[in-house]
Amino acid sequence: MSFPPCPQCHSQFIYQDQSLLICPECAHEWNPSDSIDEEKPFTVKDSNGTLLNEGDKVTMSKDLKIKASSQVLKVGTKAVIRRIIEGKDHQLDCKVDGAGEMMITAKFVKKA
Ligand SMILES: [Zn+2]
Repeated sequence: MSFPPCPQCHSQFIYQDQSLLICPECAHEWNPSDSIDEEKPFTVKDSNGTLLNEGDKVTMSKDLKIKASSQVLKVGTKAVIRRIIEGKDHQLDCKVDGAGEMMITAKFVKKA
């Protein structure tokens, strides 16, 4: 059985001690099941279940009230995803037509 290289110094000389993997070169210890979770890419999906990427054009799939404002983003309002941020909601840092930059929840948009 071979182990993945050390995530810290990339040494190949990894050995296992119970549930931990240990690197003898930099003394880094880690749980291999933790590192599997880290490799899983973070993804967000729109209201149709389509994967969203930075740079995608989206439209609002419903009217959205903007917090702390009387402004409403009408359904169909266009936006461009500038950044995707890992989180429970408001994952999309968007530039919204006519409204500027704001954070929007992925399930309230659909890919244009
Ligand atoms: Zn190491």
